[in-house]
Order: sequence, then C-alpha cells, then structure tokens
Amino acid sequence: MFSEIFKAGAFGIDLHGVLDFAPDLFKPLLNLFMCANRRVYIVSGPPKEDIKKELATIDVEPDRHYTQILSVVDYLKYTGVKMWQDDKERWWSDGKDWWESKGKICKKFNIDVMLDDHIEFKDGFPDGHRTKFVLFNYYWKEYLELIKGG
Ligand SMILES: [Mg+2]
Repeated sequence: MFSEIFKAGAFGIDLHGVLDFAPDLFKPLLNLFMCANRRVYIVSGPPKEDIKKELATIDVEPDRHYTQILSVVDYLKYTGVKMWQDDKERWWSDGKDWWESKGKICKKFNIDVMLDDHIEFKDGFPDGHRTKFVLFNYYWKEYLELIKGG
C-alpha cells in the first residue's frame, strides 16, 4: 500500500483520523510530493474554510503541504444534494450521498490514491474507478505509533 501512494501523481488524504492522527509524520511526506510536482488534496467533510483553519492548527500549509482542499459539504451543496445542520452547526446529508461523495470528488479531480480511515467511503470507489481507495486502518496506526516511538 505504501508503493501505491508513492506512485500517485495525485494523492488524496483525509484529515480526521488520518492526517491529524500523525501530522508530524505525514507533513514531510506531503511536502515531498509537492516538491516532486505531485498534486496533494485534503479531502475532508467540513466546509473548506473550517478545514483550512483546522489545518493551520497543525501547521499544514497550502503550497507547502497541499495543492487544494476538497470539502464534502461544499461539494454536496454544489451538486444540490439536500443538506441540514444539527445544533452544533455541523452539516449532514443522507448517508448514501455522504459516503459516495469522496469517490465522486476523486473522479472529478483525477486523484490516483485516496487514503481514508472510513471504509464506508469505499462505496464511492466501485471496481473500475480511476482512484485506488486505501483504508487507513489500525495496522497503519500501530506502525505509525512504532515510528513515533510511543
Ligand atoms: Mg476520517
């Protein structure tokens, strides 16, 4: 799975549970991709402005670590999918629309590999989809904990 990521011309990475799980380990990797003229997309749920603020708190910077932020909420609103907010002002949609969204976003932006910790998003990446969905699961987490020397 590492080799697939290193070969990707365009790499998508989830924020919550992936990038924010080990920012100090992912940041040099993302910077390496950017230096090698690869495209890096942060593909995450909240509106773009919220993602941007969250990235700033872990010192993940545009152009240095990523090319563009791709927001599920913004995408679903753009496509006219029915959305609503809960009392914490978080946006929701029907599950099917939500879980298929990252696959559609990856197709639209010609992303080669998408790394995400939610297997449910895999529904949006059926066989023959141009993007390889890689699940960031507990094997990764265990491995990264070892590197961190936790
Ligand atoms: Mg996640």
